[in-house]
Amino acid sequence: MKKLIYLDNAATTQVSEEVFNEMLPFFRQTYCNPSAIYSFAGEGKKAVDLAREKTAELIGAKMEEIYFTGGGSESDNWALKAAAEAYSSKGKHIITSKIEHHAILHTCEYLEKQGYEITYLDVDEEGKISLEELKTAIRSDTILISVMMANNEIGTIEPIAEIGKIAHENGVLFHTDAVQAYGHIPIHVDDMNIDMLSASGHKFYGPKGVGILYIRKGVKIRSFIHGGAQERNRRAGTLNVPGIVGFGKAAEIAGKKMEERTAKEIVLRDHLIERILSEIPYVRLNGHRTDRLPNNVNFCFRFIEGESLLILLDQLGVCASSGSACTSGSLDPSHVLLAIGLPHEIAHGSLRITLSEENTLGEIDFVADELKKIVERLRSMSPLYEDYIKNRK
Ligand SMILES: *Cc1c(COP(=O)(O)O)cnc(C)c1O
Repeated sequence: MKKLIYLDNAATTQVSEEVFNEMLPFFRQTYCNPSAIYSFAGEGKKAVDLAREKTAELIGAKMEEIYFTGGGSESDNWALKAAAEAYSSKGKHIITSKIEHHAILHTCEYLEKQGYEITYLDVDEEGKISLEELKTAIRSDTILISVMMANNEIGTIEPIAEIGKIAHENGVLFHTDAVQAYGHIPIHVDDMNIDMLSASGHKFYGPKGVGILYIRKGVKIRSFIHGGAQERNRRAGTLNVPGIVGFGKAAEIAGKKMEERTAKEIVLRDHLIERILSEIPYVRLNGHRTDRLPNNVNFCFRFIEGESLLILLDQLGVCASSGSACTSGSLDPSHVLLAIGLPHEIAHGSLRITLSEENTLGEIDFVADELKKIVERLRSMSPLYEDYIKNRK
């Protein structure tokens, strides 16, 4: 089998070996239900407490403010639906952005059907919201602002601390979907005025199916999954002990290795950007040049279908994406690329490459070399390209 070059780390990451080893004993040895009374259960409870502590520490939170969930989508649903309900006597207006993940956008659509009013903030051509537009959007009945920390397609990092400050000056709750940011870039919930934050294990070398919702002490928000008294009565269900332990370990490692990982990824990222922009004509880098996730690269190649690019890369053992896993398979171009102002025909030619610390310069050079050939080949078959060249002459 040819070697896989995995460049789709925004879709999911490989569980790291250290995380895997930390989780293993909690499947067959320490399989207790941590809510039980006997002392065997205490071992599970201890492991969960430790994981909660590490998880909180990475973002400057208290361990009682961390609630384990079934993943990023659940955390986003919980934050929005439960806050909407809890604060509905104050008002029914929510502010978010046009480039959120579907876990936020589709939840907002659901809330609209329940009588809530949602303002979707525009973003500029680099994917940033405008703080001025945010201020103008706030009304007396605004109860919640939810803006993602970093975008999963184009990697742009939003001005979270400033957004949080504006929210708090206006007495509005602030939630951020930090699924792409947690474990990748520094976060501090107090410095950034964050009231609620979603994160997910499998986006930073932890396991799938486990996430967190950070809820600042004092925020009124009800239970979303009803049942037992787990997670201080706020999230029912027998704890996913191996998953939680894995999340905690991944958080601990991220805390220790963030600078080193970031430095490695930025070298690879910038090398790829530099090569593609200088060696392939009619290419656009999407997202902010510097306020950008260290592992994200996103291009649009004109006159090309992103899907054809992906298929040809796949034949070489290269895993990449055209945007988000949720939009692939559909013919609509990405809502994020449309929001940054790209016309449909250009948005269709997108390629997202998301790195991990495991990637090498050799892999990046291979991909750059191959992309040059693939793009040339696809353009040579494109009537659009032919027309364009003809008209230019
Ligand atoms: C992946 C992702 C989610 C969903 O997380 P899951 O754990 O897969 O449910 C939500 N928001 C963003 C920004 C993501 O990248």
